[in-house]
Parts: sequence; structure tokens; C-alpha cells
Amino acid sequence: MNYTHRCMVKYSMPPLYCKWFSLRILPLIILVAGSGWGGFLPPLRADELLQTIENVQAKYAADLKQLADDCRRKGLEDEARKTRAVLEPRDPTRFFVPVLPQKAGPPALPDGAPPAVVEWHQQFSRLRREQGEALFDLARQALRNRRAALAIELLLSAVAADPDNESVRRLLGYQKYQDRWRTPYEIRKLRAGLVWDDRFGWLPKTHLKHYEAGERYRGGRWIPAEEDARRRQKQQFGWEIDTEHYHIRTNHSLEAGVDLGVKLERLYHLWQGIFLRFYASEAEMLAWFDGRSHALQSPGARRQVVYFRDRADYNRFLGPSVPGIEKSIGYYSQAVETAFFFAGPDSDDRTLYHEATHQLFHESRPVAPNVGARANFWIVEGIALYMETLKIQDGFYVLGGADDQRMIAARYRLLHDNFYVPLAEFCGYGMLRWQHDPNVPKLYSQAAGLAQFLIHYDHGRYRDALVAYLSTVYSGRDAPDTLSALTGVSSETLDAQYREFMEKNDGPTVDEK
Ligand SMILES: [Zn+2]
Repeated sequence: MNYTHRCMVKYSMPPLYCKWFSLRILPLIILVAGSGWGGFLPPLRADELLQTIENVQAKYAADLKQLADDCRRKGLEDEARKTRAVLEPRDPTRFFVPVLPQKAGPPALPDGAPPAVVEWHQQFSRLRREQGEALFDLARQALRNRRAALAIELLLSAVAADPDNESVRRLLGYQKYQDRWRTPYEIRKLRAGLVWDDRFGWLPKTHLKHYEAGERYRGGRWIPAEEDARRRQKQQFGWEIDTEHYHIRTNHSLEAGVDLGVKLERLYHLWQGIFLRFYASEAEMLAWFDGRSHALQSPGARRQVVYFRDRADYNRFLGPSVPGIEKSIGYYSQAVETAFFFAGPDSDDRTLYHEATHQLFHESRPVAPNVGARANFWIVEGIALYMETLKIQDGFYVLGGADDQRMIAARYRLLHDNFYVPLAEFCGYGMLRWQHDPNVPKLYSQAAGLAQFLIHYDHGRYRDALVAYLSTVYSGRDAPDTLSALTGVSSETLDAQYREFMEKNDGPTVDEK
């Protein structure tokens, strides 16, 4: 059977109204041996570690508040605002990942800045530098405590505090090149004389002016963009676009393909960081954090993506091989390892991130055939439903949130409709059982709620277990009781904690139609 994900995400919405954050993060990783931060760290016990983290964060917040108050007393309102702005948002139902500046170094002060501003700038930079170093040390401690998820969270906090922490930046896969933080891929492109443009992608620097003037290079000469488009539209997929991790074929346009690539790269970098333990061993992570590893392998080759100009082309192209494609709004085929999307009003970024997440989990390490066919299919969907919440807000990539539309749906069904399939049974559902269940939209809602629960409950208590669960399911070594075994608590306890989590985050955001 053709094993596919035709996600019925659009049909999982509840009868509700709801009311209602360049850069990149965590590309992998070329470490330079002997970089100087693989030194001795005295081990901390788990409870000491958590207390130390809390203390370090509280002191940083207090120091920043004092600096901001000092600025205000001196009439430096702008500096006070900038000082307060670097504090990370705190919402335990959301995951925050800083949008990192490409430019290296703190923003320069204008010439002739008053001495009070110069003094603020020095103090502000020092606080951020010291916090970055402290959090990175704690991240390494967390990894030694076998708390990989916490280590990743601390690493992200370290680079949020100090985007120029060289050790963390290097660890995240960046190198300084011409005063900018670049990946090795970008540096190769730049050295080859190419430039990146958000409309046209990578192209020779000498071509940019022509492209901006409405010309396109074809067959060794410059022709009008309209003529180029006309010719390309006669081909099946006239445009082929390479980004760092994706190969996109489209019959829409160069610009639309590049725009899609930017979004996919954004998801890729987030996914790569958050789910590091999915494709890297604990030993690899330790070597990586300690600077003992030269290079952790970037997971997999370029992902293949096809982007149709509209829904009709999507239906026409995929219809013969994928029955029911017209009911889908995005499709990932494990068989051909390709994600399919279409442009237009029926499509949205949520679907894009959803299907691209399926692709990342399937193609970043060896996986079993027919993942989730026997049991545990819910987490394959649940984790994609989580990643589709990706937004950019106030300098952060944000995932999750109690007010996300799918969380509202999940709460409504649990607390109002009283619809809930206990985990002991839910984890037993394989793909076919799931797809043929008359309540499939409700199953999607429950999967979305449970995924957020496993990521955010009790400050991420189950986050490492979740990644291990995903790893086990994608390896095909799972059983219906795998989640319970990995979390170390019974499925009945997880059911009760889920209900508690949903009740706690219940609020005025749920209204009946
Ligand atoms: Zn899906």
C-alpha cells in the first residue's frame, strides 16, 4: 500500500470562535577542536542544577531591571526600553527561540554619543556577555545530567542573551565572515561570488541588478522576465530553486519558490535544534557541547519539495496516484520522499510547516517502513500539529501556546464535549485505524493537545521522553505502552495530568458558537 500522510488538518477544527513572534537557529555544527571550552566543570546534582538555573536567571533579570531603572532616572528612555526588551518572554505554554541577528557585534553607538549612553552600552554588553557564558556552562551541566531538552533550552537562552557568544555560535554552526554570522554553506556561496536575495534566491552578484530591472538570464543572454516566465510555464516545473536544505520545483514563479524556501529553512533550523536528540546520540551531543567533535553530520541530503501554482494543478498531478488528494491541503509522500504544496487561498503556512515536519522526521535519519502503522500513530500527527504553530513575534520564533486554535479545539473537546480516548487505547491506534475512525477530526484535536502537554507540562518534564518516544516510533521499535515506559508513569496518570494541564490552561479564549 502506498503509505502516505494526507493530513486532514483542515477538517479538525471545532465549532468555535477564538480570540485571539534573521537569521537562523541551530544549523549544524562544525566545531573547531581545541576551541577552549571543553574544560573541567564540577558536576551538579539535578536539583542543584535547577536551582542554579533559577538563580542565574533571576539575578540577570534583576541586574537588567536595575540598569533600566538607572537609565530612566538619567532620562535615557530609549536605552531603558532596549535593556528591558532582552528579557525572554515567560509563558510556560510556549517555546521561544531567539531570532538571531546576522550582523556580528552589538549595534554601534552613533558618533558623539553622550558619556551616559556609552556607559550604559558597556554595562549592557557586559551583562549580556556574562549571562551567555553562565547559561552555556549550565547547558553543558544539563547534558551531563542527561537532560538534553533542558540543555537545548539553556543553549538557546545563552544565545538569546548574547548573540555574539563565539562558543555557542560556533556550536550552532556559524562562523564569522565579513562581520556577519554565516553558515559554511553560505560562506561557500559568497566566496563563489553569489549573493542571496529574498526575491530571487542565490544568484551571481553581477546578475542582481538585471533581475531587479526585470530581466532574466536564459541561454547565455538576458531576456524580459515575462518572456522567461512564459517559457518556463510550458515546462512541468519551470523553476528549480536550491536553498541550503531544500530543492524546490515549482510551476508558479521564481519569487514564490524562494519565498517558500525561506519558510522551509526557518522550520528546518528550529526543528534541527529542538529535536537534536532525535538524530544525534547522547555521546555525539556531549562531544558537540564540549567542543570535542569536529563536525556533527547535518541530517540528510536536500529535501525535495514540489510547489504547484494552484489547487487545480495539485489535484491534477497527484490525483491519479493519490486517491482523495482533493480533500488534502498538503501532502508528504514517504514513497518518493517529496512534500507537495500549492499556492493560493486554500493553502496556509500551518499546512506548510505541518507537512514539512513529517518530511523532516522521515528523512533525517534511517526510519522504519510504515511508521506508526501498528500503533502510536497519534504522535506522528501530534508533533506536526505542534510545529505548525510556528510564528515570529517580538524577536522570537514561537511555538505552541494555550491560545493556539488547535489547543482551543482540544480543550473544547475534552472539557466540553467530554471526548477523550484514554492513552492506553489511543497509543494502540495504528495509521489505518486512525484514518478510518469516524471521529478523526477529534483524534487530531486530542493529538494536538497531548503533544503540547508532553512538551510543556511541568516545565517540560516529559520533553526528553517525548523525543525518545518519537525516536522509538520512527525506528519501528514501539509498542502501545512505549510512552508510559519512557515517561516512567502509567498511562492513567498521564491521562489525569493531561486533564489537569488542559483545565489549568482553560480560559476565556473558548466560546461556543
Ligand atoms: Zn499530518
